[in-house]
Amino acid sequence: MNPCDQPGLTPVDTAIEYLLSQVTPVREQELCPLEQACGRVLAKDVISPVNVPPADNSAMDGYAVNPGSLDSGRTPIGLFRQRGIVLAGEVFEGVLSAGECVRIMTGAVVPDGAKLVVMQENTEVVDAGVRVDHPESLRDGDNIRRAGEDIRHGEVVLAAGRRLTPADCGLLASIGIADVDVVRPLRVSLLTTGDELVAPGSELPAGKIYESNSFVLRPILARLGAEISAVTAVSDTLEAIQEALETAAADADIIITSGGVSVGEADFTRTAVEALGKLDLWKLAMKPGKPLAFGRIGKTLFLGLPGNPVSALVTLHQIGLPVLRSLSGETISPPVRIPAIASERLKKRPGRADYQRGIAELHDAGQWQVRSTGQQGSGILSSVSKANCFIVLEQERGHVEPGETVMVEMFDQWLS
Ligand code: AMP
Ligand code: MG
Repeated sequence: MNPCDQPGLTPVDTAIEYLLSQVTPVREQELCPLEQACGRVLAKDVISPVNVPPADNSAMDGYAVNPGSLDSGRTPIGLFRQRGIVLAGEVFEGVLSAGECVRIMTGAVVPDGAKLVVMQENTEVVDAGVRVDHPESLRDGDNIRRAGEDIRHGEVVLAAGRRLTPADCGLLASIGIADVDVVRPLRVSLLTTGDELVAPGSELPAGKIYESNSFVLRPILARLGAEISAVTAVSDTLEAIQEALETAAADADIIITSGGVSVGEADFTRTAVEALGKLDLWKLAMKPGKPLAFGRIGKTLFLGLPGNPVSALVTLHQIGLPVLRSLSGETISPPVRIPAIASERLKKRPGRADYQRGIAELHDAGQWQVRSTGQQGSGILSSVSKANCFIVLEQERGHVEPGETVMVEMFDQWLS
């Protein structure tokens, strides 16, 4: 049964689990040059065609030596005849016999026959050759970076569903890959509704407010690499909203709206979606952001966020992003939350999970402490702007007294 049909408010986790079960990830893929691939989602596993590093190489500037047998009981060789020098990018032709060495630079391939590298600081050039300090402490493999120690030929380096980070792109470059198969960008249509909304930059007539939600939602969607088409002040009539939805549904994977999903006189978004497709209305046990609409128009998903700016942001972040990321083919994991000590009283009523906005700091003793950014109303956007984290207070919790432990979710790459 659809959990939103059950009486009472739906816990956030239950809603996310259900919504994710309704998502069919985008499958179409495209080949992307590596220099543009950061942030894209891998469409296929990447298997390494090479070893990294490709050959045993020196981790130090020094001497690659063949000390003969390093078995215990024998007197180790301490003086070596230098056969040459090998720099990074070069290969020494020849095989070192016992008692021979080659001067070697960091990153250069270790010559055949060499068993280890002695760092330069532990050597001395004398008339008879190169003398090493404490030859009894030499060990096979000292200061050698082995072929394949980072990545082995044939190994799965990165799995399908991975959203590529800068380090991932470096890893792909290190195995010689110049183009990657990625999932095509999501096509997102963003609609903000409300007759009271006026674009910033114009005069503000009496009774109107500046439209701000699109300026919050669009950059978050842009960080997903989505292709966004936006209409930023659809008027509050059933016809206007229905028309905007029909146009959007024609080519978007998902339509995201803000406003018009509560039970006010001018809240037509719900009715419009119901007329064109299917819609579930959720009363989430979360604050801010109780009303949330989810449905589809044809093949296009629909997510109706609340209109209040903080509610729109919090629901997009907490509920919308898991849906969008999963739709974009990404393998997702739950957000990281850490315990912190509340340094002041936090007001909270049992019944809904609170996502209060806070400032968390790490104190000298290694303990996180958190305080509120002040007024927490769902229209107070400055409460988010000043914050570096959400203070996530459990659904049934009441007021938090100073010194109590709370869970904190630091703002991640979508909000920072
Ligand atoms: P609604 O859900 O449409 O009733 O909107 C709830 C509140 O959020 C109202 O105070 C709206 O004026 C405000 N609001 C809705 N959409 C926006 C927007 N795009 N930018 C700023 N405020 C908005
Ligand atoms: Mg409205």
